[in-house]
Amino acid sequence: MNECPVCQQTKFKDYLEVEDHFGSKESFQLKQCTSCETLSTNPQPNVDEIIPYYKSNNYISHGDSVNPVFDLAYKTVQRQNLQYKKKLIEKYTLGKNLLDYGCGAGSFPHFMQSKGWQVTGIEPDDSAKNQALSKGIDVIELSNLKREFDCISLFHVLEHVHDLDTTLNKLISHLSKNGVLVLALPNYQSYDAKHYLNHWAGYDVPRHLYHFNQKSMFSLAKRFGLNIVSTHPLKFDSYYVSILSEKYKNGKSNLFNAFRIGYKSNSKAKRTKEYSSLIYILSK
Ligand SMILES: [Zn+2]
Repeated sequence: MNECPVCQQTKFKDYLEVEDHFGSKESFQLKQCTSCETLSTNPQPNVDEIIPYYKSNNYISHGDSVNPVFDLAYKTVQRQNLQYKKKLIEKYTLGKNLLDYGCGAGSFPHFMQSKGWQVTGIEPDDSAKNQALSKGIDVIELSNLKREFDCISLFHVLEHVHDLDTTLNKLISHLSKNGVLVLALPNYQSYDAKHYLNHWAGYDVPRHLYHFNQKSMFSLAKRFGLNIVSTHPLKFDSYYVSILSEKYKNGKSNLFNAFRIGYKSNSKAKRTKEYSSLIYILSK
């Protein structure tokens, strides 16, 4: 790693050593850019090398169930999350044309479609892509983008993207004049991140290539000529991430503790605004 993927400066300091708790158990170093504070996973597997890291038999991406026991609760939370995202997006958009980049199995675009939005998805994973297609989502390739969109969303996706420059520039060029780019990202400055440290599930190395805080997002916006219109919490993520983190730390889901830390993280964030995950609304 020679330069910071966000601000292109070349000075780093060691921040934390983190294990791939979910799969390979390999260790990775988080290097912090001394200028914009973005953390980069090091070493960083390239596009081909990273594939096996996703292939452990039960990789859980956001949006899937953690455990059948929590399925009902999770479905309820998921439904509320979908409503919340829709409400947020509709507050900042005029038209109803959505591109969901990294749409996974398509539950978000599917929900938006049912509310009168015209939706398009992009998804590299074939099995997820087929599920999205079966929901009636128009799933295309990034290179085939033609139209402009009122909203382009990346929910917990940007931290997985190898070619940040090409991808973001391409997406921004397809954002309509008054359109918004919506980025949801884990926030390593949150209380739960600081509590769980190297066991914090939000690091998810090496699948997460970079780790943002509000300062690094400001730097990213500036570099791509965008304005941060507003920042919003994803309050369920502190619980979800804490459940996984407890598992990584103690080998079991200590639910009571996970809820305690999740709650504490949200309470502290009322003042600090450092929620476990943040949604950034950006405009051209
Ligand atoms: Zn930087």
